[in-house]
Amino acid sequence: MALYVYKFGGTSVGSVERIKAVAERVKKVHDQGHQLVVVVSAMSGETNRLIGLAKDIQQSPSSRELDVLVSTGEQVTMSLLSMALHDLGCPACSYTGSQVKILTDSSFTKARIRKIDDARMRKDLDSGRVVVVAGFQGVDEDNNITTLGRGGSDTTAVALAAALKADECHIYTDVDGVYTTDPRVVPNARRLDKITFEEMLEMASLGSKVLQIRSVEFAGKYNVALRVLSSFQDGPGTLITYEEDQMEQALISGIAFNRDEAKLTITGVPDLPGVAFKILGPIADANIEIDMIIQNIAGDLTTDFTFTVNRNDYPKAKEILDSICSELNAKAVTGDDKIVKVSIVGVGMRSHAGIASTMFKTLAQENINIRMISTSEIKISVVVDEKYLELAVRALHEAFDLEHKPQQR
Ligand code: ASP
Ligand code: MG
Repeated sequence: MALYVYKFGGTSVGSVERIKAVAERVKKVHDQGHQLVVVVSAMSGETNRLIGLAKDIQQSPSSRELDVLVSTGEQVTMSLLSMALHDLGCPACSYTGSQVKILTDSSFTKARIRKIDDARMRKDLDSGRVVVVAGFQGVDEDNNITTLGRGGSDTTAVALAAALKADECHIYTDVDGVYTTDPRVVPNARRLDKITFEEMLEMASLGSKVLQIRSVEFAGKYNVALRVLSSFQDGPGTLITYEEDQMEQALISGIAFNRDEAKLTITGVPDLPGVAFKILGPIADANIEIDMIIQNIAGDLTTDFTFTVNRNDYPKAKEILDSICSELNAKAVTGDDKIVKVSIVGVGMRSHAGIASTMFKTLAQENINIRMISTSEIKISVVVDEKYLELAVRALHEAFDLEHKPQQR
């Protein structure tokens, strides 16, 4: 007998028919004698619909009230799924985050889980019931409803799996696993059998939307065996796990990309201590997140300072730089919001030289100009013009032969 946490995303519970199909799947596993906690998202489109209603009333509604509102989406799904299970003769009981209870901090719309009480779930599981839990939500010390940020049901599932020491956590979604890259850009992208937590974390941070970033962090920290699978077709999915002496040892596991980038440069800044802080301090104060940073020293004792931000933040960041330019005695501010970031990710990079040069050679052969580069132990990112995104991703996919499974060692 095993204990599983299953999570079904919005499209997997997008209609009454889909909810019934999920109930069938759950019942089958329950009938085999396994214990099951099922975390559900709101029916597809529902969270956006609710946010739309709020915006129709007020431009920027109170975040506390927003959480009260959007948490109802998951509550609808959980009760319907529980009913669907009853209808199949499968005992089940549904709970909101606050009923469980999933205790969070009070950062409305992006709360973090602090503690999970597993007593009520355990009692149900031990008496043979399927436990259905609303994803994406919790409750703070003062009994306010909170939510965990968009895509937060993934994190609910992983956190419950960690708290219950589940054997596996399955994330059922509309794709059948994690791919080497987005199949819409590269049709021969390949489903990975396995990927490490670290790689998955990079992929998620770099733009792959399969899992909420925080759920991957959580899974890595608490060593939750996490599997991404399709709720529409059978298959093994992708297992996200620790790095081991893998039979499948690829140089690169995947290519991620992010279209929402913009870059800003302030040129001719006097090269003095404290300059980076003077530039980035006001940016941080405006709550703008910075990604890549490059500083170059010119011969004339000035520096050019370049960094990237999310495209939404570009106008605000430009405005801030424009206003500090003269104060810094800098020459000019330039920017470009038609850029993208393309990254290759793989733990194989640690033990193999020459990956970066293969990447740069491939882009050169396609005549793609690299505007910025940044690296970490297991990833190399480049910024290129927006119009080259598809070409760059396809060329790199081909150059690293991601279409084929790596040779077994
Ligand atoms: N329903 C929430 C959202 O759409 C949470 C989730 O689906 O994971 O972001
Ligand atoms: Mg999701």
